[in-house]
Amino acid sequence: MSTHYDLLITGGTCVLPWGMEQTSVGVRNGRIVDLGVDATATADEVVNASGLHVLPGLIDPHVHLRDPGDASIESIPTGTKGAVLGGLTAVFDMPNTRPAITDATQLAWKQGYAEQAAWCDMGLYVGGTKTNIPELAALELGRGVCAIKVFAGSSTGDLMVEDDEHLELLMRSGRRRIAYHSEDEYRLQERKHLFKVGDPYARHAEWRDEEAAFLGTRRLMALARKTKRAAHILHVSTAEELDYLKDYRDIATAEVLVNHLTQMAPDVYDRLKGFGVMNPPIRGQRHYDAAWAAVRNGMVDTIGSDHAPHPYAAKLKPWPECPAGLTGVQTLVPVMLDHVNAGRLSLMRMVDLMCAGPARVYGVVGKGRMAAGYDADFTLVDMGKKGRIENSWIVSPCGWTPFDGMQITGWPVGTIIRGQAVMRDGEVLGSPSGRLVNFAG
Ligand SMILES: [Zn+2]
Repeated sequence: MSTHYDLLITGGTCVLPWGMEQTSVGVRNGRIVDLGVDATATADEVVNASGLHVLPGLIDPHVHLRDPGDASIESIPTGTKGAVLGGLTAVFDMPNTRPAITDATQLAWKQGYAEQAAWCDMGLYVGGTKTNIPELAALELGRGVCAIKVFAGSSTGDLMVEDDEHLELLMRSGRRRIAYHSEDEYRLQERKHLFKVGDPYARHAEWRDEEAAFLGTRRLMALARKTKRAAHILHVSTAEELDYLKDYRDIATAEVLVNHLTQMAPDVYDRLKGFGVMNPPIRGQRHYDAAWAAVRNGMVDTIGSDHAPHPYAAKLKPWPECPAGLTGVQTLVPVMLDHVNAGRLSLMRMVDLMCAGPARVYGVVGKGRMAAGYDADFTLVDMGKKGRIENSWIVSPCGWTPFDGMQITGWPVGTIIRGQAVMRDGEVLGSPSGRLVNFAG
């Protein structure tokens, strides 16, 4: 008697943890049960992936879906729809919403809401503040919580812990890896008077300079060593930090953003003006080269989009009144596939950075590799498909992308989450059925 599956993916080139193999994948009850399925096997649904690459479901570990907040800019339903259209099976969502996710009540609301409204699976960050330090040890063990997020430098919202005293207390509450926005707030405030409204947008990278980021990271590393508390430095943007962090691999992991691997000053500010303004800033060639070197030497653990929508009209304001932050959840996978096709990294390394990496850094349970017993999450990719990113494709209500007009080779053509197809050939399928991601406490 032949074996029967719920779903069978045949004929594709699968990116397995040990290499690429042309093989078939059998799925039952939302999980992978077999690789290399017998030719006589049957299934309720067969996906013919001939000519495609089958990747384990890709994760964006850094998004701001602004929910609760203003749904005319972004929300969990629209942001996660963008995610599945862009080939992502899970996103980890930041806590600097209105109100912020900093206590058990807000977290409980978001846990329930995400499971009704999300198109993909979600991890949730809880914000660390000066006042909720005693509760963080319990909050970080909440259902679906990927990490405590700490803003050591200012960005959107009012979450901030800028001084060493509170940072150390915070590191001593709980034990899981903490994710940091690392820019030295004192240096940012000190140098603010050097700039004025209406200065060129490129001044953003002068105000929030290399030293602001590097100083922030040096301070965090000193405290992390002292407290022995693991740290994930989000959006590392300087050559100096990427070099420095090599000596802190006992406690530190690092994220680089797709923007810092794709765009460069001064071109990005000349061309995009406010639509190139984000924190930490997009910098010059030296830092771009260092980011790619760190992708190749293994210093980078994860790649995120830092999807952070703002209204189109607000981005037209003069610097520094235009808010910092760019959309990116829907474009992350296509832009990275284009980098693969351009020979900047291998498809294996991309999967390491966008699936295995987030799983390892945040302690994801049951996702992060294509293997028996793991969730049947897949990103189906056509490496030869060409297309153009356009503002009109973006489903976030704010309706713009810093990659508008970019020609891309390599597109996600299918998104499957726990055995359910949620996107095929650019069409969203079914209804929102995202769940919270499980994390090892
Ligand atoms: Zn962010």
